[in-house]
Amino acid sequence: MDRSYAQDLDREDPLRAFRDRFHIPQNPDGTPKIYFCGNSLGLQPKTTRACLDEELKIWAEKGVEGHFEEPYPWYSYHEPLQEPLARVVGARPSEVVAMNSLTTNLHLLMTTFYRPTNRRYKILIEAGAFPSDLYAVQSQALLHGFDPREAIIQAAPHEGEHTLDTEQILELIAHHADDLALVLFGGVNYYTGQFFDLKAITEAGHNAGARVGFDLAHAAGNVPLKLHDWGPDFAAWCSYKYMNSGPGAVSGIFVHDRHGDAPELPRFAGWWGTDPATRFQMGTTFTPQKGAAGWQLSNAPVLSMAALRASLEIFDDATMAALREKSETLTTYLQALLEDIPHSPFQIITPSTIDARGCQLSILAPGLADQIDQALQAAGVVCDVRRPDVIRVAPVPLYNTFDEVWRFADILRRAV
Ligand SMILES: *Cc1c(COP(=O)(O)O)cnc(C)c1O
Repeated sequence: MDRSYAQDLDREDPLRAFRDRFHIPQNPDGTPKIYFCGNSLGLQPKTTRACLDEELKIWAEKGVEGHFEEPYPWYSYHEPLQEPLARVVGARPSEVVAMNSLTTNLHLLMTTFYRPTNRRYKILIEAGAFPSDLYAVQSQALLHGFDPREAIIQAAPHEGEHTLDTEQILELIAHHADDLALVLFGGVNYYTGQFFDLKAITEAGHNAGARVGFDLAHAAGNVPLKLHDWGPDFAAWCSYKYMNSGPGAVSGIFVHDRHGDAPELPRFAGWWGTDPATRFQMGTTFTPQKGAAGWQLSNAPVLSMAALRASLEIFDDATMAALREKSETLTTYLQALLEDIPHSPFQIITPSTIDARGCQLSILAPGLADQIDQALQAAGVVCDVRRPDVIRVAPVPLYNTFDEVWRFADILRRAV
């Protein structure tokens, strides 16, 4: 498979102009690096600085009056972000809001949706979940007086397999229909790149009498989501991975509309969760506003949200549907090139079914991680080499090219 084919694909790519809207990290000689690490930290849109500068300027010139300064008053800064955020995750605007950071939000949402009883107290999570998620569910179980070793069920792949079967997950859920309180699953597993069948998991969880929540850190901005239709109770994600909003960027949450007008649901409360019309009466009773916004605690971190605003404009221009279309082709092309390497020592552990993965491929290279890492670094490739032997590569449709994928595969071919 020759390079000119990749270059043809780039010329025909309807999204090719979007690359120019990002700062691409450079090699010492000024050539762009091959950046396949958007699953860890997405690149900076060129418009981010102006969005931040705008708020800094208002702060400098107006001080506290910035809270009411058009076009984006700080007082309601999160509100115009709800619609574009909802488009990314397939929700209604009332079902989403940007606030806090991811692990914080998982805890806040579990405060509402993990209400264990002596009979029904278990939490199902995928084995090999991101450590922060595991710590979060363990500590939630402890908080309620349960032993995490007993309360946490980890869904592990069959012997010798790297990823989970949907059937296997559904059976496990059904098996625990008497004692399961919560299913908290990743949308896309950070390590294997597996995109779980969130619709089926939601249905099974609800049939078993449990609540269902998803951590979409590796899914938001990466794979098509229909949160409203699939119907989980809640979800949360960060915005610094595929959402390109900068290190530690503000997180997003989803609370399904069926819980949106339920002031009786227990939650940790703060003044920003109240009705904005009466908030400044500084009353003594907390009455949550409707929708996901009723879970807010604090006023908006405007500087962090300005970066999210810059990013969401790009998602709206590109659309998730077009991004997914390119992403499927880009990642399938990477897979084909890797499989074409003669006597390849590589095994792709990410599912080969397109519906069961996003941008990322996780490549198992037994005993070769150091050698590959050196070759990739020397060639100006940024990706994640996990000791002992997994390389995670995420070609991102907004700013990566087919030619970069070709060059990456060529470097691997030569390295072995
Ligand atoms: C990236 C990631 C996190 C990080 O959590 P923060 O609270 O943003 O530091 C948590 N969970 C998953 C699944 C992740 O991929």
